[in-house]
Amino acid sequence: MENQHPPLNLHFIPFLAPGHLIPLCNIATQFAARGHRVTVITTSSYARILRKSSPSLLLHVVDFPGGEELMSAANDLESARNFFHASMLLRDPISRFLEQHRPDCVVADFFFHWVHDVANNLRIARLAFNGFSLFTVAAMESVKSNPALVPDSGPFVIPDLPHRITLCSRPPKGVSAFMERLLETEMKSDGLIVNSFAELDGEEYIQHYEKGKAHKAWHLGPACLAAKGGEERGEKRVVSEEECVSWLNSKQAKSVVYVCFGSMCRFPDKQLYEIACGLEEAAHNFVWVVPEKKGKEKESEEEKLKWLPKGFEQRNAEKGLIIRGWAPQLVILAHTAVGAFLTHCGWNSTLEAVTAGVPMLTWPVLGDQFYNERLVTEVRGVAVEVGATEWRETGYGEREKLVTGDCIQKAVRRLMDGGDEAREIRRRAQEFSDKAKQAVRDGGSSHNNLTALIAHLTRLRDTR
Ligand code: UDP
Repeated sequence: MENQHPPLNLHFIPFLAPGHLIPLCNIATQFAARGHRVTVITTSSYARILRKSSPSLLLHVVDFPGGEELMSAANDLESARNFFHASMLLRDPISRFLEQHRPDCVVADFFFHWVHDVANNLRIARLAFNGFSLFTVAAMESVKSNPALVPDSGPFVIPDLPHRITLCSRPPKGVSAFMERLLETEMKSDGLIVNSFAELDGEEYIQHYEKGKAHKAWHLGPACLAAKGGEERGEKRVVSEEECVSWLNSKQAKSVVYVCFGSMCRFPDKQLYEIACGLEEAAHNFVWVVPEKKGKEKESEEEKLKWLPKGFEQRNAEKGLIIRGWAPQLVILAHTAVGAFLTHCGWNSTLEAVTAGVPMLTWPVLGDQFYNERLVTEVRGVAVEVGATEWRETGYGEREKLVTGDCIQKAVRRLMDGGDEAREIRRRAQEFSDKAKQAVRDGGSSHNNLTALIAHLTRLRDTR
């Protein structure tokens, strides 16, 4: 059916941070793989990466209006803010390009909320993308719509959801007001692209969203299954895949804890120190990704002692691999030696773990991560909590509460020492991994959704 119509002309505008750009570009490649003409509008640094990783995508490069072009390079709040403000200045060049090269449909990250007005003026169909699971969108909506039922502090049951879900506390008000405004604009789009698969969010949440909001959600994921292994995915790797694989090859199946907190989270040294203590105490193998301190030459021994106990590297030379910088996460998660993933519950990391069938140890920090934790622990039972309850506004700076080494080692052991609970969690993790892979095969739920979405967009184009 798709072939009877001329291909669609689609423009994708990902936000310039790995957690947004990686999944949306992987989704863009799925449209290109069906023969459609797909242009990604981005800046030169990301264009360089995409040229290598996603050759089926056409690229339109816009100049970044000053400062650091990769959000993950921001090491503190001020540089993150500067980055965000600079990225909003892309409105003019992107709008101009859309006016001059009208696509049949534009798919923009919800941070670029102004695309809504541009698309409306040009009468172009618009799909929104926020990088969240639909479960999380539904939970955020419930918190927003029921202010009287959400206390200012302490745990509460999220009102009006298909399951009884308890959150440790409400999100910080400033951040949720910002998110809520973005979500409102998103609801005015012609539909929402979701990087997940229907079986993980569950029919009950899809119906809850679509009925409640009268807005269509298109589950097209997991996007990571559209990624070709091997490429750089938003940052320069500091370790080769071969090195990681050969280290993992020397370990027994399911014996390694993989520890990584995504692209944006920067823990203070004393929190890193607790992680080191927890990992050492738990006495399992580990791969631990620690963000690089940008702008510094090789770290001195004295500086290292701020975040690593004395002698840690020597004592754990066999057991542990520390990666200071960007790691090939998909390759690590796919390795049979990996038995658990200590994660900040960024949605991409969460979904990548689900897809790989690796149970998670959850340590949310901000934003959607606390909701994601509820989905994979309480609802789907493929993860255990580490016990983080401090909801941060940003990934930077000091914390009031540290997650102690003791909490970390207990959580690691709960999953890695065996026992009935851990076995059951592993069984469910494998079940969801199978479902994830099935979803993108011919006849799978995400595969069918993509077919239906293309037909829908073709109809919209032909009737406009
Ligand atoms: N990632 C990676 N190597 C790293 C850190 C992160 O490949 O060392 C990738 C990870 O696989 C995921 C993305 O970066 O695709 C991070 O997105 P997520 O939503 O998990 O977290 P965020 O970075 O947005 O907080």
